[in-house]
Amino acid sequence: MLSLLTLCPPFVILLWYTMVHADGSVSQTFDYLKQHGLQGLIGIWPRPTATAWKIIACYAAFEAALQLLLPGKRVEGPVSPMGNRPVYKANGVAAYVVTLVTYFGLWWFGIFNPTLVYDHLGEIFSALIFGSFVFCIFLYIKGHVAPSSTDSGSSGNVIIDFYWGMELYPRIGKHFDIKVFTNCRFGMMSWAVLAVTYCIKQYEVNGRVADSMLVNTVLMLVYVTKFFWWEAGYWSTMDIAHDRAGFYICWGCLVWVPSIYTSPGMYLVNHPVNLGTQLALYILVAGILCIYINYDCDRQRQEFRRTNGKCLVWGKPPSKIVASYTTTSGETKNSLLLTSGWWGLSRHFHYVPEILSAFFWTVPALFNHFLPFFYVIFLTILLFDRAKRDDDRCRSKYGKYWKTYCEKVPYRIIPGIY
Ligand code: NDP
Repeated sequence: MLSLLTLCPPFVILLWYTMVHADGSVSQTFDYLKQHGLQGLIGIWPRPTATAWKIIACYAAFEAALQLLLPGKRVEGPVSPMGNRPVYKANGVAAYVVTLVTYFGLWWFGIFNPTLVYDHLGEIFSALIFGSFVFCIFLYIKGHVAPSSTDSGSSGNVIIDFYWGMELYPRIGKHFDIKVFTNCRFGMMSWAVLAVTYCIKQYEVNGRVADSMLVNTVLMLVYVTKFFWWEAGYWSTMDIAHDRAGFYICWGCLVWVPSIYTSPGMYLVNHPVNLGTQLALYILVAGILCIYINYDCDRQRQEFRRTNGKCLVWGKPPSKIVASYTTTSGETKNSLLLTSGWWGLSRHFHYVPEILSAFFWTVPALFNHFLPFFYVIFLTILLFDRAKRDDDRCRSKYGKYWKTYCEKVPYRIIPGIY
């Protein structure tokens, strides 16, 4: 089902159209489509204009340059299934700060107005849909003719190779990591850039920014800041360490993140809800708390692995399982599984605050329309599916050790319920 959703470019365009041109009302868009059918969809589908391509090209080139040129600490990723250890340059925070300061600077000094991005948003999404497809063809060909490491291979089926990808760590040259670019520097960075864009658009149209928009933007920026702060940790998660660079993940990062993940802010541009200071503050604090807990879950697991279990978890020595497994090259290795702290509450507790944070940056839109909540619902389905996928993968990797973990920590996501 998720795969079908990510394969659904018309949905991206319809969501944008509904938010920007149909007052956020799904029924208004539905009536329009009922009346005009496929021709109506073609009619509202924006063509990728030269302006849209220029905006995307400048942004992508800028982010690629920052990724390559900014200094950063050398970080080693986790051992891959083929026994390789990819090396990265951790300069995400610097790239994030330079990006936002440059964007604000361009606006402040009248060099580039971010409202241009909002005004061409449909064309930009349309160009991204097309461009990411071409980019994935490039990845497919590269996987066949010039793989960057032994963590690559064909399933023998063209469609599966294109969809799931061929390479785990594709690179251009030795240093330009393609997944760091698509997932972090293009996808996640665009989330922050678009959140700021929506805020500026509302300011330029109304002369002020509503408290609902402020809460939404601040929470999204705190979330993305947390992401870049922890970016090196992200390089050892499923997206990077297990999912290959194919259409599934690249399309998600290049199209789905900029359009769907930012959509509550897109809605608020034309719906400046006034919450009042007290309610706005409650939502803001609750959202920040959830983002912090999500961060702390990831940090706890990482710190535990980094110190080989020689750390304190919630003030006590951690309880753990030493799990051995065999790599695809036949080597036997050990991993530690944490069974206390957040990781003792449930096996994927970190998804609870992740979903709640998304709820808190969406709820300022209140409940007049369903569409702003689409991302929260999508995320809930995504993470429940992901928890199952991850459990299945860990079960086949760790065998009896995973079974022991499941006996010790029986709930998958919500303690006491699921
Ligand atoms: P993680 O990769 O962080 O965690 C899962 C992996 O951790 C497992 O595959 C296993 O890998 C290892 N592991 C599992 N249990 C334990 C344990 N008890 N102790 C130590 N290691 C363990 O998960 P995600 O990639 O799903 O999540 C990372 C972050 O990204 C989270 O904050 C999540 O909320 C967020 N996220 C956000 C999404 C969004 O769209 N907004 C989507 C997905 C994630 P190993 O093989 O190394 O043992």
